[in-house]
Amino acid sequence: MEEVRFTVLGSGSAGNASYLEVGDTRLLIDCGFSARQIKQRLASIDRIPDRLDGILITHDHRDHIQGLKNLASKAKLGLPIYCNKLTAEEITRAMPAEYEFHLFETGQSFEIGTVTVESFSVPHDAVDSLGYLLRTPAGNIGYLTDLGHTTRMIADRVRDANVLLLETNHDLDLLRDSGRPWDLKQRIWGRHGHLSNEGAAEFADTVLHQGITHIIGAHLSRECNSPEMVRAEFEPILQRHNLEHVQIIITSQDKPAETVLMGNDTFFSEKNFATAPFSN
Ligand SMILES: [Zn+2]
Ligand SMILES: [Zn+2]
Repeated sequence: MEEVRFTVLGSGSAGNASYLEVGDTRLLIDCGFSARQIKQRLASIDRIPDRLDGILITHDHRDHIQGLKNLASKAKLGLPIYCNKLTAEEITRAMPAEYEFHLFETGQSFEIGTVTVESFSVPHDAVDSLGYLLRTPAGNIGYLTDLGHTTRMIADRVRDANVLLLETNHDLDLLRDSGRPWDLKQRIWGRHGHLSNEGAAEFADTVLHQGITHIIGAHLSRECNSPEMVRAEFEPILQRHNLEHVQIIITSQDKPAETVLMGNDTFFSEKNFATAPFSN
């Protein structure tokens, strides 16, 4: 079976990008750091952007698209960009350039090489936000970040995930007690804002099954969250489901997370060599 590697290159309000490799198929999910940063972070896992088969976009917020122009536009590497029509329009408006868009309808499934991409709508304050289930021969990855709340439809769409990337943006108490302006707090915890640790754990409780191997906490707020708080939300739920073997990975926006390797009966993850934060 083909080896599958999945690495979150970074995740947070300053930028988001992940790398998925399934045999010869190589994808980015979001391109929310500078082109230079994306190259550096790919280099840290011994990969180069020239070999990418495409970039899959979740939504048009800057922290998910800002590297596209200098990395993927036709004047640069000319990489295929997979997104829906409204998102493509916003990308072109925000960063005018010629792009090779591969448009699909929200809700549609399609293939990129050996990966089957299933898209679905998520509630967030961008033009047409998406979550994904990425099906590979070695297992499925649920990709769920930047969403204000979860729904039963979303749970159904990621129920087959073996690796579940889930937004764990903030701790509700820390956000409430933070010095942030009231309207910003309202935006974050609103129905179209960001998912709290508590909301993510409640959601995980409804979709966990014996086939889950990794839960990845993503898009952590620097001021209103910590890796320890995310773990403390998930651990009791994993225990209750007899899933203590599930590995919890917490992402950072400063450096790539551990690479998840899939392809044997047992999935495992390896520490990347990159440990120092990257300079901008
Ligand atoms: Zn974001
Ligand atoms: Zn967003």
